[in-house]
Amino acid sequence: MTEQRNGGGTPLMQQYREIKARHQAAILFFRMGDFYEMFFDDAELGARVLGITLTSRGDGVPLAGVPVKAAADYLRQLVAAGHRVAICEQVEDPRLAKGIVRREVVETVTPGALLQDGWVAGGRNNWIVALAAARATVGLAAVDLSTGEFALETLDEATLEEALTRLAPAEIVVPGGVELRAMPAADGALRTEREQWEFDPALAREEIGRRFALASLDGLGLEPGDDAAVGAAGALLRYLVELQPSGLSHLARPSVRRSGAHLWLDEMTRRNLELVEPLRAGARGTTLLETIDATVTPMGARLLRQWVLSPLSDAGEIERRLDAVDVLVQDARARARIREALDGVRDLERLGGRAAAGRATPRELGALRDSFHRLPDVLEGLTSLAGRTRSDLLGALERDFDLLGDLGARLDAGLEDRLPAAVADGGVIRAGFDAELDELRALRDGGRQYIATLQGRERERTGIPSLKVGFNKVFGYFLEVTHAHAARVPADYERRQTLAGAERYVTPELKEYEAKVLGAEERMATREAALFEGLRSDVGRAVARVQRAAAVLARLDVWASLADRAASCRYVRPAVGDGFGLRLRASRHPVIERLMPRENFIPNDAHFDAAERVLLVTGPNMAGKSTILRQIGLCVVLAQIGSFVPAEAAEIGVVDRLFTRVGASDNLARGQSTFMVEMSETSAILHNATARSLVLLDEIGRGTSTYDGVAIAWAVTEHLHDRVGCKTMFATHYHELMQLPERLAHARNYNVAVREAGDTVVFLHRLEPGGTDRSYGIHVAQLAGLPAAVVRRAREVLLTLEGEHRVVPGAPARPADPEQLDLLGHAAASHPLLERIRELDLDSLTPIEALVRLAELQKEARG
Ligand code: ADP
Ligand code: MG
Repeated sequence: MTEQRNGGGTPLMQQYREIKARHQAAILFFRMGDFYEMFFDDAELGARVLGITLTSRGDGVPLAGVPVKAAADYLRQLVAAGHRVAICEQVEDPRLAKGIVRREVVETVTPGALLQDGWVAGGRNNWIVALAAARATVGLAAVDLSTGEFALETLDEATLEEALTRLAPAEIVVPGGVELRAMPAADGALRTEREQWEFDPALAREEIGRRFALASLDGLGLEPGDDAAVGAAGALLRYLVELQPSGLSHLARPSVRRSGAHLWLDEMTRRNLELVEPLRAGARGTTLLETIDATVTPMGARLLRQWVLSPLSDAGEIERRLDAVDVLVQDARARARIREALDGVRDLERLGGRAAAGRATPRELGALRDSFHRLPDVLEGLTSLAGRTRSDLLGALERDFDLLGDLGARLDAGLEDRLPAAVADGGVIRAGFDAELDELRALRDGGRQYIATLQGRERERTGIPSLKVGFNKVFGYFLEVTHAHAARVPADYERRQTLAGAERYVTPELKEYEAKVLGAEERMATREAALFEGLRSDVGRAVARVQRAAAVLARLDVWASLADRAASCRYVRPAVGDGFGLRLRASRHPVIERLMPRENFIPNDAHFDAAERVLLVTGPNMAGKSTILRQIGLCVVLAQIGSFVPAEAAEIGVVDRLFTRVGASDNLARGQSTFMVEMSETSAILHNATARSLVLLDEIGRGTSTYDGVAIAWAVTEHLHDRVGCKTMFATHYHELMQLPERLAHARNYNVAVREAGDTVVFLHRLEPGGTDRSYGIHVAQLAGLPAAVVRRAREVLLTLEGEHRVVPGAPARPADPEQLDLLGHAAASHPLLERIRELDLDSLTPIEALVRLAELQKEARG
C-alpha cells in the first residue's frame, strides 16, 4: 500500500469526501490496492448487510472492506438487498502517480441497472421503469439494460397498475416530490427520485433523436398524447448514462406499446389464474407458463413470458400468430429440426449487450461464435417447413433472418476453439490470426526450448547428472545443484538462493534467454488483449444486428414451442374472431390435466353468446366449479397469445379485458384477506368491465355473513347482466342465486354434476344445464374422513333441522316481488343453528375440529 491510511484530514480522505459527496445515494466502493473500502455510514451498512467485520481506522473512522477478487459476490448481495453501489476505481497506475492516485466512479450498480453476467434469471426481464405524470395520463418508459429492450407506454390510472404488475420492475424512477397513486403496486422496487426538469419532453426528444440518430421521432409511432412517456424516456436515459457510462450502446430504439392492442389482465387475475407465478409460493408445475413453455433459448423463454402476461386483443393479429403455429404443428419433422438447431443457441441479446459494453469474456465471445454457427441449420429448418407460405409471419422471419456469417467467420478466425475464463490466462487468440502475436509466441517458445536444452549441455559440462533448470516467480530461471556436488560448480555460476539440500545459480546466458522469454510473454499478453478487444468491439459494433437476429430466433422458438405443446398435449386451433360468442367443446384445464394421469381429466363444454351470457354454476364442494371457471380463462389467454387450446373445438370472440375473482375463503393468493379487499376488487371489475370483457367470479361474497353475501352477489350479477352486458361465469354455493335466471333474460343455471351412490357421492366433474338442490356437505365431510359415527349423527341433525325449518336451499317458493326474495323471506324462518351449520367451512376443518363443532351444536340444540 503506497498511501497513508490514517488521518481523517489526509489528502486521501479529502479525495474520498469529494467523491462521496457526488454519490450520496449509493454505497461507495473506494478502491485501495486489492480492496474496495467503505467508510463511515457506508461501512456500517455494508458490514451489517454483508456480515463482514467493521473496523476502525487509527483516527476512529469506521471502515469495512472487501477484496477486489471477491467483490462481485458482495456487490450482488448489496444490490439484491435493494442498495445502489458506486464503484470508484484507481484510474492511474499507482506506481506512476504523484501523490494521491486519481480515482473516479466508473459505474454505479443498482437493482435496475445490472450488466453483470448471470445476475438476472435467463427466462425473465429485469426492468427499470421511469414514470412521468401528465394531466390525465401517466407516461412510462421501461428499459432492460441486460437485453437492450426499450419500451414506451401511455397509461391512465387503471392501466398503470396493470403495467407495473406486468413489468414487475426492479427499480422505478420518478420526478422528485410527485406522488403517483398506483405506486403501491410496484412495492419491492427500488424508488429513485430525479429532478423534475429531467422529465421535460422537449429535452427528451432531442436526447432520443441524438442517441438513435433520428431526425424526428415520428417513425417510432409516437402520438401527441405520448409526451409524458417521451419525458420519462429522457429522464431514464439520463439516469442510465450516469450509472453506466459505457453500458448503453446496445439499447434498441424505443418501441411504443398501446394497451388497446392487448388483453387487459389485472394483477388479481394473473395471480388467480396462476399465469406465471404459483399461488402457493414455491409450488412447481402449477403455472400456465411452466405448462406451455417448451422454449429452448433464453430469449424465447423471455418472449413467451411477456406474451403470457400480455396477450393480444386484435383478432387479425392473433390469427396471424396462429397461422405460424399451425404451420409448425403440421410439419413435425421440420419443427423438430428447428428446435434442435435452436437448442444450444445462447442468450444472444445479453451476450451481445455485454460485448457492446466491453464486458464480454473470451468464453462469452466463444458462446456467441458457437451460437452463430447454429444459425444456418435454423434457417434450413425454417425453409424446409412445408406450407410455410401460409404464414405471413414465418415468411417475414425468413426475410429478416440474418445468419451473422461475417461475424461468425471473424470470430472463427480469431478465437481458439477452447477458451479460458479471462484474457489474462492466455490462449485466446488462434495461431495464424496475427503475425506479431505468432512471432512473440515463437520467441517465447524458442527461449523456453533453448533453456530446456541448456540443462543437458550444463550437465555434460559440469559432470553433475542431477543438475536441473527450474523457474520461480521471484528469481526467474535458475540452475539447481545439490550440496553433494557443490565442489563441481563452475566459476561462472552466480549464487542466488540457498535451500536445505541445494543451491540455486544463474549464468549470464540463462539471464539473457530469460529476458527474451519473459519480455516476449509480456508483449504477448498485451498484444493478445488488444486483439481480443478488437474482436469484441467488432461484435459490439454489430450489436443491433445481433439483437435483431435474437428477436427473430425468439419468435421462432416461441412458435415452435407452442406447436410442440399443441401436438403433444392434443390442443386444437381456436377460431378467433370479432364476434361475441365463446364456445369451447370438450375443453380441459391445461395445468390440472397434466398433473393427472392421462385421460383422467373430464372435459367440459362451455358456451356463452349474446342470448346466454351470464352462467351461474352451482354444485357441492369439490365438484369442479373453480376448475371449469379457470379453465375457461386459461383457454382465452392461450388463444389470445396465439396458442392452440386444450379442447376439441374452440371458437373465441376476442375479449378485451379478463377479470377473475376468488372469494375470500377460497383465495390462497391473498393469505390474510379481508372482506374489504374482496369488495374493492369486485368494485374494480364493475368499473372497468365492458361488453367485450369476460368476468369469472368464484364464490364472491363469501367473506361476510350469508345474507350480506347473497345480497351482494345478487346485485353484482344484476349489474353485470343489465349494465355491462359482458360474458360472466359465477361459481357459487349460494343456492339462492339460482333464482336469477328467472328474472334475468340472459342468465342461465348450470351445475357440476355428482351422482349419489348409496350414502356417498361420486363427483362426475361434468358441467350440466340446470341448478342443484343439495349441497352434499355431509357427503363431502364423509369423503374427507370424518368418523362414521359423526357423519351418522350429522345426518340425524340435518334431518331434524330440515324438519323443523323447511327453508332449505333451492326451495321452489319464489316471490313475485323482486324486493321480497326467498333469501329475505327465509330470514325469519332460519334457525341460528342451521345458519351456523351452513357457514361451516368443511374444507378447512380437520375431523377432530369437526367433531368438536358438532358437539357444540348438539349441546346448543339440546339447550
Ligand atoms: P369446487 O370449486 O367445486 O370446490 P374444484 O374446482 O376446486 O371444485 O375441484 C376440486 C378437485 O376436483 C380438483 O382439485 C380436481 O382434482 C378435481 N377436478 C375438478 N374438475 C375436474 C375434471 N374436469 N376432471 C377431473 N378432475 C377434476
Ligand atoms: Mg371452488
